[in-house]
Amino acid sequence: MSRLLIDGLWVDGDAGTQQLRAKYDDRIYGEMAIASAQQVDHAVEGAVRAVTGGAVSPYDMYRILLETSRIVESRTRQFVDLLKDEAGFTKADGENEVARCVQTLQLSAEEAKHLNGKLIPMQAAKGSANRLGYTVRVPRGVVCAITPFNSPLNTLTHKVGPALAAGNAALIKPSDLTPLAAVELCKSLLDAGLPPSRVTLVNGPGGTIGQQLLEDPRINFYAFTGSTRVGKEIQKQAGLRGTQLELGSIASTIVCHDADVDLAIPKILNAGFRKAGQVCTSVQRLYVDRRLAPTFIPKIVAAARRMKAGDPSDDTVVIGPMISTGAADRAHAWIEQAVAQGAEILTGGTRTGNVIEPTILANIQKTMKVYCEEIFAPVLSIIEFDSLDEAIASANDTQYGLAAGLFTKDLSQAIRTAQRLAFGGVHINEASSARVDVMPFGGVKDSGFGREGPAFAVQEMTEERLITVSY
Ligand code: NAD
Repeated sequence: MSRLLIDGLWVDGDAGTQQLRAKYDDRIYGEMAIASAQQVDHAVEGAVRAVTGGAVSPYDMYRILLETSRIVESRTRQFVDLLKDEAGFTKADGENEVARCVQTLQLSAEEAKHLNGKLIPMQAAKGSANRLGYTVRVPRGVVCAITPFNSPLNTLTHKVGPALAAGNAALIKPSDLTPLAAVELCKSLLDAGLPPSRVTLVNGPGGTIGQQLLEDPRINFYAFTGSTRVGKEIQKQAGLRGTQLELGSIASTIVCHDADVDLAIPKILNAGFRKAGQVCTSVQRLYVDRRLAPTFIPKIVAAARRMKAGDPSDDTVVIGPMISTGAADRAHAWIEQAVAQGAEILTGGTRTGNVIEPTILANIQKTMKVYCEEIFAPVLSIIEFDSLDEAIASANDTQYGLAAGLFTKDLSQAIRTAQRLAFGGVHINEASSARVDVMPFGGVKDSGFGREGPAFAVQEMTEERLITVSY
């Protein structure tokens, strides 16, 4: 049974338990312990005590995080099986999630050793010849990680790894749709020797437990990934405390007339459909040069038809179920609504239970929800363009700005276009979803701010302190 990790101890939830159902077949696969308000209070108290009660040396933290990466890797099969039930991940999705978590832990371990400040050239200022100045990075204190359902292990690791590497205590509130991956990550950290209370885990609904965490002034920093709606609420409540917000997105990928089609198609389909399209950088809008469209579109449609959707236990399946019936209902309704407004289904559009077939739409209007709202489902809309200016303006025409992709063989066109695309990351000859964990990753506009990637996150999760010495 899932338990809570409070003040270094695994405990039951005083607010009861909730049965967890497998996302494909609705089978009960586990139970989530729900924290009471008093337990949440106790959890914060324990986390505060952990940071005030003595530091873990950077070298020890390096060893612990590296050992955690080894433990997680050795438990790959167990994690993949759990993620199949908990998130509906196929074998490939699960293995990718675990491999990335292992790498994120390794990168975080390195950061524990390399976090440092700057030497300030005090002598360069008039009258400061006998002064020395330098900065050090100081932990924020208690870093609260609030995470979404769609990457239950790696997104969490992107917050917990750097938080610990930087000397903070990590307090975790995972999605109540996918809570057990967080339990297993905590177990791995403790098995690796992390001192009790450096990591704390509370589970329960965002509207109550999450809200209580936002109102607690003892928490110094919120590392949040999730919807823009909740992100705005977090920012409002956080006040002057630090935040890192990784929010919603409508990602675009542009295919120019000179693109290498055989390179582009598998990358676009993987980016659009893996994890059933429930990836913040999934290709939602696919811009295709009208000159290339007659050859490109039949090829991508044929390739999408070869992608099998269904039971994630079947190793030949590449697209598993959506996270919930509500999510599948919404995405399917948006497809039907687009069709009623004139969109054409080139492939897919059908649904079996919570599995939505990989869907490619054409004849898109800007007022359609599949175009102008985040779909977060395996649905890709093709928009043909006559000029690159038109494609860039249309891709930028969204409240969001997380990631974009561009396929072209013309290097100067690629570089000029990348400068004009208003996204946190632009990937040339890659689809929008081309993230690797060493990157600075984050958005602009309503996609949030702050950068993930352990080397960047440790900067956000620490404060710079200046020290001067007169001699
Ligand atoms: P969500 O916003 O519904 O939930 C995210 C987390 O916030 C969950 O743990 C939830 O319990 C908690 N929460 C909900 N209400 C809260 C409140 N009032 N106070 C505090 N916490 C609260 O998001 P989701 O549906 O789990 O995830 C999908 C969204 O996440 C999509 O919009 C997607 O684009 C986004 N996402 C963004 C990135 C990125 O890097 N930008 C990555 C993955 C997912």
